Amino acid sequence: MTTEELRASLLSTSKNGYALLDARQKDEMEAYCKRYAAFMDACKTEREATAWTVKEAESRGFKALVPGMELKPGDKVYHNNRGKSILLAVIGKESLNQGVNICAAHIDSPRLDIKPNPLYEDSEIAYLKTHYYGGIKKYQWLTIPLALHGVVYRKDGEVVTVTIGEDASDPILVVSDLLPHLAGDQMQKTASQLIAGEQMNVILGSEPLEGDGENLTKLHIMKLLNEKYGLVESDFLSAELTIVPAGKCREVGLDRSLLGCYGHDDRVCAYAELEALFNLEVPTKTAVCILADKEEIGSVGISGMKSFCFETFIHDLCHCTGASLCRCFENSFCLSADVSNAFDPNFADTCDKLNNSRLNYGVAICKYTGSRGKSGASDASAEAMGHVRTTLDNAGVVWQIATLGKVDQGGGGTVAAYMADRNIVTVDAGVPVLAMHAPLEIVSKLDCYETMLACKAIYLA
Ligand code: MN
Ligand code: MN
Repeated sequence: MTTEELRASLLSTSKNGYALLDARQKDEMEAYCKRYAAFMDACKTEREATAWTVKEAESRGFKALVPGMELKPGDKVYHNNRGKSILLAVIGKESLNQGVNICAAHIDSPRLDIKPNPLYEDSEIAYLKTHYYGGIKKYQWLTIPLALHGVVYRKDGEVVTVTIGEDASDPILVVSDLLPHLAGDQMQKTASQLIAGEQMNVILGSEPLEGDGENLTKLHIMKLLNEKYGLVESDFLSAELTIVPAGKCREVGLDRSLLGCYGHDDRVCAYAELEALFNLEVPTKTAVCILADKEEIGSVGISGMKSFCFETFIHDLCHCTGASLCRCFENSFCLSADVSNAFDPNFADTCDKLNNSRLNYGVAICKYTGSRGKSGASDASAEAMGHVRTTLDNAGVVWQIATLGKVDQGGGGTVAAYMADRNIVTVDAGVPVLAMHAPLEIVSKLDCYETMLACKAIYLA
């Protein structure tokens, strides 16, 4: 053998995905990304993503799972977990004792949550106090257009939905920053201290009501909120209001090959799972799609991946079809569909280039996440990785390897460990993202599309 032949047969080569797509696939990719962008424009919170999914699923024949209902292959069911997370299934031909194929993503993203007693006035400016949710660089959230999304459970028991800042005619909200002229002290601080959590106060207004007494600007804002939503100040206690970047998902780059918006992590994988599920014929094994909440703060809470809600859903599916939950878990496979960090040449020294995911190289498969000594990772086995690799290769999916940064640099986690805790073989995979957790994250269209194809292949495995 010549060295060229040896090279070709022995060494692995990775190719930019654009070298592997034909014209038909490129058209499909563009159409897919248009649908994904529309989803992102409609869904900026876990509640909005759940509501969107319920509506879309029902229009495609999914029914709410009722314990004890009769289920046969091809039936489509879902469980809406209190409006904040959702589980869906397409019943397969095999018994659930043979296991199910799961894709699990999360639909919460880092943001600024409103405090329980948030409204105050200082120097005749009205503000909302916030408490950041998830891992953010606080300074990135200053002087950018922000919107208010959420629900309020009013004193009278009515639940009202609030959205301010997304319609072109809406006002936006903002957190101010210090002018550079006076930032001598500020610029000496470390980036995490440039702005304190207690300074992340959102400007609501500046026009005082006519009259005497204190807090006339705050009173004006409360009056406006009362007129539009029927709110009184104490209603903030029973609210889930959150500040997110205002605006729509946009194409990025002169070649339009990238998509920029808030919350790709992890709705980019959530949408990939959903669209793959929606287009399934009757699968061999039952296909399960999970859109979880609270991943960004540790998968905690009743709507997080650690919640027993997941067991309840799979138990109900097993019960309806005469299978055992333990056998089902033991034989199941889960693709923990979450984003990875795309290699950024501007910050090359934070990553091991040989093992980092790259834009346009396809869905990124990750054996382990975690930090330092793999702490917090589920660390998939050779067999689990082999299963994913073979499944994706057989389906013609463009894939690549991912690890999260240099060994000593930091790290992160996903829902994978919590799925593995249930005795379910689990592997991480997802879309590489530039500027993850920033108000505007960047992904490549090609990777979005390949991740949808990967979810489809896993459901059909
Ligand atoms: Mn994530
Ligand atoms: Mn994240």
